[in-house]
Amino acid sequence: MDVPVKPTLHDGALTDQFGRKITYLRLSVTDRCDLRCHYCMAEDMVFLPKSNVLTLEELLELSEAFMKRGVRRIRLTGGEPLVRKNILWLIEALGRHVTSGELDEVTLTTNGTQLPKMANDLYRAGVRRINVSLDTLDNDQFKTISRRDRLDAVLNGIEAAKAAGLQVKINTVAMKGFNEEEIPDLVDWATSQDFDITLIETMPMGDVEGNREDSYLPLTAVKAALDSQFSLQSTDYRTGGPARYYSVGDRNARLGLITPLTNNFCEGCNRVRVTCTGRIYMCLGQDDHIDLRAALRAEGNPNALDEALDTAMGLKPRGHDFAVSDGKMVGKVHRHMSHTGG
Ligand code: SAM
Ligand code: SF4
Repeated sequence: MDVPVKPTLHDGALTDQFGRKITYLRLSVTDRCDLRCHYCMAEDMVFLPKSNVLTLEELLELSEAFMKRGVRRIRLTGGEPLVRKNILWLIEALGRHVTSGELDEVTLTTNGTQLPKMANDLYRAGVRRINVSLDTLDNDQFKTISRRDRLDAVLNGIEAAKAAGLQVKINTVAMKGFNEEEIPDLVDWATSQDFDITLIETMPMGDVEGNREDSYLPLTAVKAALDSQFSLQSTDYRTGGPARYYSVGDRNARLGLITPLTNNFCEGCNRVRVTCTGRIYMCLGQDDHIDLRAALRAEGNPNALDEALDTAMGLKPRGHDFAVSDGKMVGKVHRHMSHTGG
C-alpha cells in the first residue's frame, strides 16, 4: 500500500500564525555604511567580519527561496546597500526575475551618496523606485546627524536618480530639537519636485549616544502643524508598508507618516527582514530570529531552508511592542537598525 504523502508547506505561500501572507522581503546586504547617523549607529561601530556575511550568491539563493514561497517584492537595504562590493550583480539578477514576472519589484533604501555614479546602472538593472533617506537640507545639520560631510553627494545623487528615470521617495526621521523646525521645508522641497516624502518616528533600536527620548518627536503634533500649511487630505494609497499617506494640497506627491510609537499599523504586516548574516527577523521590534545561513549551508538536507522558513512563520508576532509610556520609550530591541536593515 502506498504511504500517503504528508502535505508540506514547502511549496506553499509563507503564511504566519495570524493568517498574514508574507509577500515582501527586506534584505540587508551589508552592515557597513559610509555615514554614521546618530540614531542608527555609534561612531565607533564595530562591523561584522566579512566571513560572517552572506555572499552575493547566497543572497540570491535566499531571495529565490523566498520567491518560491510567494514573495513578490524585494527591497535591498543595510547598512548602505550601495557600498557592498559588486552589489549590481545581485540587483541585475533580481531584475531578471522582475522581467520574467516572478517578482513584481526590486527596490532599495539608500542614503544616496553612491547614486551619482550608480543611478543609471540601477535603472538598467530593472530598479524603478528607490527610497532615499535625508533628514535635513542644511549642510551643518547634515554633518551633525550623519557625522559626515556628504550632503552634496546625496543631493547630487537624488538629481542623478531623477535624471535616470528612477522614482524617488524621501525618508526623513523626525527628531525633536534637530529637524523639527525644518520639516515643513523638507516637505515643501520634496513635494514640489514630485517626490513623496515619509516622516518616521525614531525607534528604540540599539544603543546610541545620548537619550533617545530627548529626540523623540511624536508625529501627531507634526501632522497638525503641516496640515495648516499644506492642507493634507487622508488617502487610501498604500505601499504594503506601515505608512499612512496624505495628499499635499494640489501637489503631485504625497506625505507618508510612519508612527510606530504613537500608532502602530501591524495588523496588515506582509513583510519579514533578513540580515546580511542570514538571520530572519519576523518583526523590527522583536528579538526572536532564525538562522537561515545555517539552513542555507546545510549539507544533505535540501528542505532545510524551507523548514527554517516554516519555523520562522510560527514566530511572527501580532505586532511590535515599541511604545512611549510615562515619557519613556519601551519595547526596545538591542540590535541596531543598520544590522536588521531598515
Ligand atoms: N543606509 C540606508 C539608508 O540610510 O537609507 C539604508 C539602511 S537605513 C538603516 C534605513 C532607514 O532606517 C533609514 O531611512 C534610516 O533613517 C532609518 N533608521 C535607522 N535607525 C532608525 C531608528 N532608530 N529609528 C527610525 N528610523 C531609523
Ligand atoms: Fe548608514 Fe543608513 Fe544607518 Fe545612516 S541610517 S548610518 S546611512 S545605514
